[in-house]
Amino acid sequence: MRIRRIDLFQADLPYSGGTYMLSGGRKFSVFDATIVRMETDTGLEGWGESTPFGSNYIAAHALGARAGIAEIAPSLVGRDPRQVERLYDVMDSALAGHAHAKTALDVAAWDILGKATDMPCWMLLGGTTARRMPAISSIHAGSPEDMRRRVAEHRAKGFLGHSVKVGALDGEGGPALDAARIEASLADRQPDEFFLVDANGGLTPETALRMLNLLPHGLDFVLEAPCATWRETLSLRPRCPVPIILDELMQTDEDLAQAIALDACDGIGLKISKAGGLTPGRRQRDTARAAGMTISVQDTVGSTIAFAAVAHLGQTVPEKILRCILDCRDMVTKQLAEFDAPLVDGGVLAPAAPGLGLTVDRAALGDPVASWD
Ligand SMILES: [Mg+2]
Repeated sequence: MRIRRIDLFQADLPYSGGTYMLSGGRKFSVFDATIVRMETDTGLEGWGESTPFGSNYIAAHALGARAGIAEIAPSLVGRDPRQVERLYDVMDSALAGHAHAKTALDVAAWDILGKATDMPCWMLLGGTTARRMPAISSIHAGSPEDMRRRVAEHRAKGFLGHSVKVGALDGEGGPALDAARIEASLADRQPDEFFLVDANGGLTPETALRMLNLLPHGLDFVLEAPCATWRETLSLRPRCPVPIILDELMQTDEDLAQAIALDACDGIGLKISKAGGLTPGRRQRDTARAAGMTISVQDTVGSTIAFAAVAHLGQTVPEKILRCILDCRDMVTKQLAEFDAPLVDGGVLAPAAPGLGLTVDRAALGDPVASWD
């Protein structure tokens, strides 16, 4: 089986909540999605997506994803997409780094591998836990009462976890505002719920400790991505009374190896496009598991196509260490595919259809912006 053609599509995905507010004054209202369709000489096709969270979340942006794919795609035509590790070797030979560009191509290859073997991707990734995966909401930074209201809204929709964004500068309210946001967001906490307090690297050790010291004792949450650098994170780590999860600092295999060696965190946010697709995502899953870390399987954002990859990898993470999956479908108003994985009873089950199990809406995608054959 050979790759005969690669089509590249672009789509705008409006944020479902109006304007997404992140630490450092970052705001997002539309996400620029890059979609790949990979076609083989047998007629099978695979789909993958890479949708960066704007251009200032990590070192990834939508134009870069498409430029990276243009750099790599000619090297892939004629290759066997089922040999996902070997295909990745070719991508690494064509372009160093740029994991987010490789993601859409790698996930499309996994989709083909599943269809070619008539198995869902979760089977090929190790097998399903058959447990509904708890879905986490994404509660952008706002006033404490507004955040409490949005947590309640998502609770009513069936979300068991909530990612609460903090990271106010002193001039915006600082640690006192962040502490009030945490208290308000956790005020109606239900017994089976969990909370990630995510600063997206917006705190320093000083502001993080001030924020934590302002909180009443006993609030149950983990602190995600408190600081932007390793130095700050390692300084905070021994003084931090709550578990730390790394996200933006955790991108490559080397990052994960370093985090384990330095005991920098208790868990990771494993985002498919940040890792570079399902091939490195699988590796990071196993490495984190070996180190006894919890894992949140997510993506930066994205449509149903991106979510399908999240669901298939998440479905293979043992229940004990799967903190949650991010249902990024909830974050955008436009969906590009049908995917039979509803949020029911607080969780999601990945479907058993071959590959990713997607039915892509070709009309919603329009014509390709580039093709290689
Ligand atoms: Mg995060």
